[in-house]
Amino acid sequence: MLLSVVVPCHNEEDVLEELVRQVVETLADSDVDIELVLVDDGSRDDTVRLMREIHARDPRCRYISFSRNFGKEAAMLAGLRYASGDAVVIMDADLQHPPHLLIDMLRLHADGYDQVIARRTREGDAFGRTMISRLYYRLVNALVDVNMEDGAGDFRLLSRRAVDALLQMREYNRFSKGMFSWIGFPTATVDYDNVARQGGGETKWSFRRLLNYGIDGIMSFNNAPLRLAVYLGAAVTAASFVYVIVMVVLALAHGVSAPGYVTLIAAICGMGGLQLIFLGVIGEYVGRIYYETKRRPHFLVAETEPGGREVEKR
Ligand code: UDP
Ligand code: MG
Repeated sequence: MLLSVVVPCHNEEDVLEELVRQVVETLADSDVDIELVLVDDGSRDDTVRLMREIHARDPRCRYISFSRNFGKEAAMLAGLRYASGDAVVIMDADLQHPPHLLIDMLRLHADGYDQVIARRTREGDAFGRTMISRLYYRLVNALVDVNMEDGAGDFRLLSRRAVDALLQMREYNRFSKGMFSWIGFPTATVDYDNVARQGGGETKWSFRRLLNYGIDGIMSFNNAPLRLAVYLGAAVTAASFVYVIVMVVLALAHGVSAPGYVTLIAAICGMGGLQLIFLGVIGEYVGRIYYETKRRPHFLVAETEPGGREVEKR
């Protein structure tokens, strides 16, 4: 059996060597053959040069380098396309995904699981962040038709048929967390404790990026926000209908009175705000359609190891 380990790398010169060393060492005694697929996602540091060196030293370490930064989703997709293994593990370069878990994951895979998720506990996270993500997953799982789990990220093992299933999903806007869940197949989970980022470097997740990611999660997998607009519109219409009847009855009983300035302004502003919000929601979906219809490639490859190419061009 061949195991491919896909590693998306963006400016990871400090940790790449160590990661490769640990992965190779961890799997040295196991009976699987390994292949590493290092994906350079437009790094501005020496990551690519390191990859060339690592490949020259150990040809089992293959690499792809993008023409610019296309984002982690694109890097993972590239890795899955280039990986030729019977099973594929996706892991981060910064050693936040402990390589020793590979052994447990392989064992569960041998037990017949197609997806083995390494789930991170929230030990040592800032309290605020933990609460927000808990709330977020509550909300998302109530809205979205796939089930997303807190702490279950991209660190996971996928069987060949799970990888093929993912590669069949051709959307441009790839929200992998949802996609992993969407494909299904027997799934097992192993827990691991949170590890601090190695090799300096800040996490690339600013609060704004997290917020945008959260919106992506809700929008990518259903049209619940549009459905919400329908319900809310119906509720507001019904309320205003009742309000009109009440006002007419009052006017007939007591004659017309002028006051109502505050009500009027509140209604105009409230309705204006609601309309803008849902215009934005519709705009989000239209924007997504716009990007999907262009059918642009997810990434452009500038360089691979000599002779490297996609396992199957799709
Ligand atoms: N990464 C990438 N492209 C990017 C940003 C990140 O390939 O545009 C890689 C990065 O090199 C790392 C992984 O994705 O291997 C996770 O990135 P990071 O550690 O910054 O995210 P976090 O662990 O905070 O989620
Ligand atoms: Mg990280």
